[in-house]
Amino acid sequence: MGRTRHRFVFLVGTLVAASFLMGWVTDHVRLPPGLDDDAFEEGCGLPLRDGERPAGATTAPRGRGIGILEPAACAEALRGLGVEFEAVPSNDAAGVAAPIRLPAALEGVRIDTAGGDPRSVHTVLDCRLALALQAWTTDLRALGIRRIEHASMYRPNARVRGSGRVSGHAHGLAIDVMAFILEDGTRLSVLGAWADRARGADPCAWRDDVDGATRSMRSAVCAAVQRDLFQIVLTPHHDEAHANHVHLEVRPGVDWVYVH
Ligand SMILES: [Zn+2]
Repeated sequence: MGRTRHRFVFLVGTLVAASFLMGWVTDHVRLPPGLDDDAFEEGCGLPLRDGERPAGATTAPRGRGIGILEPAACAEALRGLGVEFEAVPSNDAAGVAAPIRLPAALEGVRIDTAGGDPRSVHTVLDCRLALALQAWTTDLRALGIRRIEHASMYRPNARVRGSGRVSGHAHGLAIDVMAFILEDGTRLSVLGAWADRARGADPCAWRDDVDGATRSMRSAVCAAVQRDLFQIVLTPHHDEAHANHVHLEVRPGVDWVYVH
């Protein structure tokens, strides 16, 4: 009996000592020189998804945060994202806070003028609209859209029809998209392919009865709405003036969104 009890005490003692030692060891793993525990908080090498790439030391602004950027911060953000752009002299773009042109595709999506002249005044845009378009390309690419055609971005002194209010186009903050071109060359024009245009209907409400082309265009527009990239979005549901294009506008500093 005495020997058995001794063995038992020895076994329990060994287990206690071993578990204590294991606990001590696991709590005090020696790290390679230069590393400490905090080093494991970040930098795990996980691949970043689209739109999550850091711009320089900062994160690219998102959604309506884009609209309130000062010109210098906007240019910095564009550069950080690797977007190619050229500055436009302010004398050539009265009313535009940060006038630029986009000479190249945005992440594989071309922003072309339907008029065909890349030096037209209508191809000038504010840097913030460029940032919003850049963010939008994630959705456009996912839908197989490789090019959008617009009627205009900047329109000097443009006024909102009927009201006389200054339009976002006068500030280079709005784009009138007339067509979405897919990677196989299929051209989805708002005039020809936006099938349902019931006046006043919510353009982003889910509908079963629309064809693929209409769904692609709606998905593209509504993905931008979802991301809060544009605060004014006018579609063929809005009025006759928008029968052939979708107006997408960055409206700085507002706390609402108007999607019609
Ligand atoms: Zn417009």
